[in-house]
Amino acid sequence: MTFFEEGARVSVLTAQPLDRLLTYRAPEGGCWQGAFVEVPLGPRRVLGVVWGAGEAGFDAAKLRAVGKVLDVAPMRPEMAEFLRRVGDYTLTPMSQMLRLATRAPGLMDPPSMRKIYRLGGREPDRMTEARERVLEVLEAEGRLGFTLGELAEEAGVTTSVVKGLVKLGSVEEVESPRDLPFPFLDAEMAGKPLAEDQARAAKALRAGIEGGRFGATLLRGVTGSGKTEVYLEAVAACLKAGRQALVLLPEIALTSEFLKRVEARFGQKPAEWHSGVTMTERRRVWRMAGEGGFGLVVGARSALFLPFRDLGLIVVDEEHDTSYKQEDGVLYSARDMAVMRASICEAQVVLASATPSLETWANAEAGKYKRIDLISRFGHAVLPEMAAVDIRSEDLPANRWISPTLIRAVEGRIEAGEQALLFLNRRGYAPVTICRACGHKVGCDHCDANMVEHRFLKRLVCHQCGESKPMPDACPSCEAEGKLAPVGPGVERLAEEVAEVFPTARVAVLSSDLFGSARALKAQIELIAGGGADIIIGTQIVAKGHNFPLLTLVGVIDADLGLQGSDLRAAERTFQLIRQVAGRAGRGDIPGKAMLQTFQPEHPVIRAILSGDEEGFWKAEAGERQAAGVPPYGRLVGVVISSPDLDAAMALGTALARADAPLVQIGAQVFGPAPAPIARVRGRHRVRLLIKAPKSVAVQPALRAWLSRVPVKGDIRLSVDIDPQSFY
Ligand code: ADP
Ligand code: ZN
Repeated sequence: MTFFEEGARVSVLTAQPLDRLLTYRAPEGGCWQGAFVEVPLGPRRVLGVVWGAGEAGFDAAKLRAVGKVLDVAPMRPEMAEFLRRVGDYTLTPMSQMLRLATRAPGLMDPPSMRKIYRLGGREPDRMTEARERVLEVLEAEGRLGFTLGELAEEAGVTTSVVKGLVKLGSVEEVESPRDLPFPFLDAEMAGKPLAEDQARAAKALRAGIEGGRFGATLLRGVTGSGKTEVYLEAVAACLKAGRQALVLLPEIALTSEFLKRVEARFGQKPAEWHSGVTMTERRRVWRMAGEGGFGLVVGARSALFLPFRDLGLIVVDEEHDTSYKQEDGVLYSARDMAVMRASICEAQVVLASATPSLETWANAEAGKYKRIDLISRFGHAVLPEMAAVDIRSEDLPANRWISPTLIRAVEGRIEAGEQALLFLNRRGYAPVTICRACGHKVGCDHCDANMVEHRFLKRLVCHQCGESKPMPDACPSCEAEGKLAPVGPGVERLAEEVAEVFPTARVAVLSSDLFGSARALKAQIELIAGGGADIIIGTQIVAKGHNFPLLTLVGVIDADLGLQGSDLRAAERTFQLIRQVAGRAGRGDIPGKAMLQTFQPEHPVIRAILSGDEEGFWKAEAGERQAAGVPPYGRLVGVVISSPDLDAAMALGTALARADAPLVQIGAQVFGPAPAPIARVRGRHRVRLLIKAPKSVAVQPALRAWLSRVPVKGDIRLSVDIDPQSFY
C-alpha cells in the first residue's frame, strides 16, 4: 500500500452521487491508501476513502486538504478490489458501492464512551434475592461488563436494583469505549459427536480451511441432516486458523436459534448484522470487522460488505433462497458475490441447502465446486412420506380449500398430540376482491395489480407498492353497495376455515405481515416449537429452517400455485419450496407425512416432488435449460425502463432495441421492448427488455457500450439486472 506524504495529491472515493474521484491534498501527517477520511465537499464534510494518487494537472495551491483521517481500520486492498469487481459486474457506480460498504452510522464521529457495570468488590449491607442474581451474573460472565439494560435483563431485575448496588459499592460503574470487541469464541470447545457422514463432511471442510486458499463447496443435505453442525466445524477450523468467519442466513427470524447453537458450541454468541440490530451495535460490528474484534458474524446479505480484517470462511445457508438477491438499489446476488469475495481473499465458501439452486448444482456438476452430500437425517428422524391429494376427486364445496382427506389426516395428528402445518403461500385474506354486480376487480390506483384484502388489518393492500386503503362498502366502479366479494384463499381466509372445521384446535398463523416486529415473530415461532399450537397456518416463512419437533404433518393447500406463470424458474422454485415445507414434518422421533393438494398429480414437477428423485429432477431441468440456452447455461440480463409516461418509456426501449450492435457483436440477442408483466408500479409505467447472451462472453463491456449509445433523459429511469431472478 502506498503512503502519501502531507500535501501530496490523493484521489478520494466518496459515497456522493458523482461519477468520478475527487482530488485533495494529503493532510498533516500524511495518509495511507485505503484510509477512511473526512473531506470537505462544498459546504459539507463527507466520508471518503483514499483511493490512490491524485491526478496531476490541477493547481495544487487550489486543492483543498483532506479534513482528517478517521480512527477506523483502513480499507484493505482486497475490499477495494471486491467493491470494484461487484461494481463492474452489476454496472453499479463506485460511489454507490462505497455506500453499500459503509452502511453504519456515525463512522465520522470520534470513538464514544458509555457506562458499563462490573463487580465492585464490596458486600452489600443486606442481601436480597434480586441483588444476589445481579452479582451472580457479573461473577459468572467473563465479559468486560454490561450496560445497565443488559445487566438488568440478564439478571431479571429492574435497573433500580443495579443502581442500588452501585451506591453500595458492590457494583462499579465505569466509562468504557462503546465499540468494544466481541467476546472470544472458544474454538477448542468440543462439538457434538458427529455421525459418520457428518464427520466425513466436516473433515473435508476443515481441510479446505487449513489449506488457506479459495475453494467453494456445495453442502447438500436433506433438512435435519445436520448441516449446521457440520459447518460449525468449519467455523471452528477458521477461528483456530485465526481468521474471521461469516454465516449468511436468509431470514432474521432464523438468527435466534442459530445464536443459541453458536453459544452452545463456542461458549459465546457471535456478532450480528441485520436490520434488527440497533444503530450503535451496527457501528460496533462494522468497526470490529476491520479491527478483528470478532471471530464470527451472522447476518443478512449485506454483511458481505463488512470490512473484514481477515475473512477465511463464508457460509451461505439455504443458498437457494431468493432473498439472497437484492431487488433494489444495487442488484446483486449475495450468494454469487460471496463466491467472488472468497476468491479474492483466499477464503472458503460453503453453500448449504437441502434443495440447491440449479446454478449451484450445475457448478458442482461441472467440477467448479466440491460437493458433499449428507444423505440421511440425523438420529432417528426419517424423511416424510409424500402423497398427493387429487382435488378433482375430492368433494370440496365452493370457498373451501381443505379437502376431506386432508381434514381426516389433520384430525388424526391432533388426536395423537402432534402438530399439523397447512401451507399456503399467499398473504392476506383473499388475493382478489370482485364486485358481484359489475365484475370489477379492485385494483391499486398506482400499480397494475389487484388489491389484496387483509381482514386482520381491515384494509386492502397492494403487494407491489405497499399502498393500502380501508375496505370500501361500495364498488369503486359501479358504486353498488355490499356487493364486493373475496375470491380465492389467503392464509387469513384459510385460518377462518380452520376455525370452523377444527373448532377446538389451537391455531397459530405465521405470515410475515402479521408481525410488527422480529421479536413478535420470534415469540410466535417459540410458541409453536414449544407445542403451544395444534395447527399452524403459514406462508413461505415457515419453509425456512425452523425446527418444530412436534410437527408431523404438512398439508400443502395449493401445490400448483407456483407452477402457473412463465417464470423460467417456476419448476425449480416449486420443487424447492414444497420440498422445504415438507421437510418441516417429522424432525423429531415421529415420522412425518406431507400431503400435496393438486389438480394435476401427473405434472412432471409434482411427480418429481412426490418420488423424491432429486437428481432426476435436476438433470431433467438442466437439460431443458441447456436446450433453451438460459441460466445456468446461458446468460440473461433484464432491463427495466420506467416513466410516468408510457410512450416515453416505450420510445427509449425501442431506441435501445435498434442500437443493439454492441450486443449482437458478442452473440447476444435483445428481446422487447414489451410492457412488463406488472405494467405499472407506483404510478410509473414499466417496460422491459431482455438480453440473452452465451455464457462464455463478457457481457458487461458490451452492455456499457450499448447503453452509452442512447441517453436516458428526463423523468425516465433505467435499471439493469444482471442474472435476474424475477421478471415482473
Ligand atoms: P440441518 O441444518 O441440515 O437442517 P441441523 O444441523 O439443524 O440440520 O440438525 C438437525 C437436528 O439434529 C438439530 O436439532 C441438531 O441439534 C441435531 N443434530 C445434528 N447433528 C447432531 C449431532 N452430531 N449430535 C447431536 N445432535 C445433532
Ligand atoms: Zn400499488
